Amino acid sequence: YHAKQQDAGVCPFNESMTQALQRRQQMTERLNQALDQGALMLYYQPQVDLASGQLTGAEALCRWHDPEWGWVSPGEFIPLAEERGLMRRLGDWVLREAARQMTEWRRAGRVLPGRLSINISAQQFTDPRLADHIASLACDVPASSIALELTESDFMRDPEQAVGITRALRDAGYALSIDDFGTGYSSLSYLRQFDVDTLKIDISFVREMLESHHDRAIVQTIIAMAKTLGMKTVAEGVETLEQAAMLDQMGCHQAQGYLFGYPLPAEEFSAAWRESMQPADEP
Ligand code: C2E
Ligand code: MG
Ligand code: MG
Ligand code: MG
Repeated sequence: YHAKQQDAGVCPFNESMTQALQRRQQMTERLNQALDQGALMLYYQPQVDLASGQLTGAEALCRWHDPEWGWVSPGEFIPLAEERGLMRRLGDWVLREAARQMTEWRRAGRVLPGRLSINISAQQFTDPRLADHIASLACDVPASSIALELTESDFMRDPEQAVGITRALRDAGYALSIDDFGTGYSSLSYLRQFDVDTLKIDISFVREMLESHHDRAIVQTIIAMAKTLGMKTVAEGVETLEQAAMLDQMGCHQAQGYLFGYPLPAEEFSAAWRESMQPADEP
């Protein structure tokens, strides 16, 4: 059927759709294999205090290198994992691996200041026992050294349930950030109830904030709102000194972006930030 269409050249749209579907099917299989074989990696990107430039934490970002395809973007494989029901498995791996790395750093006499931020996906966030689940996966690491990043849409899918889950996470000692803030549709009244610590200003507003009066106003509004609600702000995707200076001036607390550091494998990260990763005080 497809071959006939191709020959007749009638429907290139369907042909490319078929190809896209095939790639997604193949990608699902390879991602499953990569999970089986332990072929995924976590990279670490620094988060810094805008006023002082000091390291305040890091975000763990998942990386996948396929032998044939090369690097596959998490922007492609994370949504696929969500859609194909692989995300709990992948998410569990991320949590375990992040905890293992923090433990390894501690054993090597290195400690990340602040918290390690870990992205939690929509599927993981539907688990009413998420707090216990995370604690069981990251049992060697105190909750006080972990922050969890969720997007606005994750919170708003079922706000009532989200309030309960976030409360349990906060009670357990995890910090919570809303990722890509400004791109979703959060309700201000729920925002207060979620008891979130940090708003991460989405990269799209930061990217254009010097040129676009509109985006600058959005950034300013998010910072003002966070202040009113007693939340911290982290700007994502800061690439230039000009952006950093403007964000600092606006009262944004922290930043993450290529200006301060690319996401790096654990070894390279801890080498680059050696001075900032103070020796652990063993109790
Ligand atoms: P995110 O959580 O918003 O992560 C920030 C993204 O911005 C990362 O993309 C990071 O590499 C990129 N970034 C950081 N600084 C800059 C900059 O200065 N300029 C530009 N252009 N980009 C910058 P990445 O690693 O490709 O991840 C994309 C998304 O995939 C993440 O967005 C997150 O939603 C998802 N993701 C990645 N790892 C995981 C994971 O372990 N679990 C889950 N659930 N999602 C993940
Ligand atoms: Mg994130
Ligand atoms: Mg983000
Ligand atoms: Mg994002």
